[in-house]
Amino acid sequence: MGRNVSTNVERKIYAESMGRCMNPECKVELFKHNGDIMEKAHIVPYCDTQNNSYENLIILCPNCHTNFDKNAAFSKEDVKSWKQLRNEEFELFF
Ligand SMILES: [Zn+2]
Repeated sequence: MGRNVSTNVERKIYAESMGRCMNPECKVELFKHNGDIMEKAHIVPYCDTQNNSYENLIILCPNCHTNFDKNAAFSKEDVKSWKQLRNEEFELFF
């Protein structure tokens, strides 16, 4: 996970998360105890496409990352819609 993600893309997905898990049902705080629990997740698996673009990456907490990657609890479409949703919320601040 996270191989060769450009600094710019990393900054963009961190900023997009606003420090909270991108799952709207979760939104757990990712910065605590002087560290963080944030994980970069690929929406389409890296092994399939080697796609490290902003569009294919999302910040999740470890629970949601596992539920997405290993338990297939969410579809790729669900996860993509979370990015859209967070960006809409973000726009409301300005
Ligand atoms: Zn989460």
